[in-house]
Amino acid sequence: MLTRIIITGIVIALVIMLYRKFNRAKKSAAPSTPPAPAMKKCAHCGVHLPPGDAIQSGEHFYCSEQHRLQHEKDQSPHD
Ligand SMILES: [Zn+2]
Repeated sequence: MLTRIIITGIVIALVIMLYRKFNRAKKSAAPSTPPAPAMKKCAHCGVHLPPGDAIQSGEHFYCSEQHRLQHEKDQSPHD
């Protein structure tokens, strides 16, 4: 009789553990919000902006045309 109670207790504990594990796996497998696109950093002022708003020049990104020109001017050596 006592063995049966212990086994029942173990089974219930296992079921609860599996249920929690399953719930957690389900949550991580299907996130409610899709991951945000990687933000681009302006190479001149360091502001972060969505890729759609960023101006790309080579491997650098800029928040505005003005910062692109300014940064490229700073990068190139002057005579
Ligand atoms: Zn900028």
